[in-house]
Amino acid sequence: MDYSLIVKKHGVPHMLSNSVLRANTQIIDGEMVYMLSTDVWDSLQEASSGQGFLTITLPDYLCEILEKKIEFARKNIGFSTIVYDRLYRGTEISFLTDTVYDCDGRWNRVAIENASCNHCHWRGLIANPTVPGLFDPVKNRDEALRKAAALPQVGCPQCQKLLSNHAIWTSKSV
Ligand SMILES: [Zn+2]
Repeated sequence: MDYSLIVKKHGVPHMLSNSVLRANTQIIDGEMVYMLSTDVWDSLQEASSGQGFLTITLPDYLCEILEKKIEFARKNIGFSTIVYDRLYRGTEISFLTDTVYDCDGRWNRVAIENASCNHCHWRGLIANPTVPGLFDPVKNRDEALRKAAALPQVGCPQCQKLLSNHAIWTSKSV
């Protein structure tokens, strides 16, 4: 289905046009998603009428989550943001957004979590790819979870020992 999305940037409606969405498709966990790099986000134009395609306005709460994810990706190398649709009951489209992290050229859905090391006093953020809820919308959920669990873990940035949660990225400090 062809559509353009209206997203709010700082409360102002902006157009994610069908051509921009199409130019930024990726296959992640075996399914098509739209990749919103900070460059794509920054180049969005303010929405105007008469765009030609069906336009769908994303709900405010989703725009706020999306904007936070984009800003996180802007500050932290290797991250990007995806948005994708799901058809419910055959007719109703819902949209979802996730943060993804590039591991050796493969994008992985991740949850950004507060973490602390049990061996030293390090506290910071980690990217955890094994949170089951990340894959609830994915058709091949079990396979996606197995692949996520096989991703190489990084240790505590201070003492290098493994953290209690599966981390494929850590922030440098608190
Ligand atoms: Zn440590």
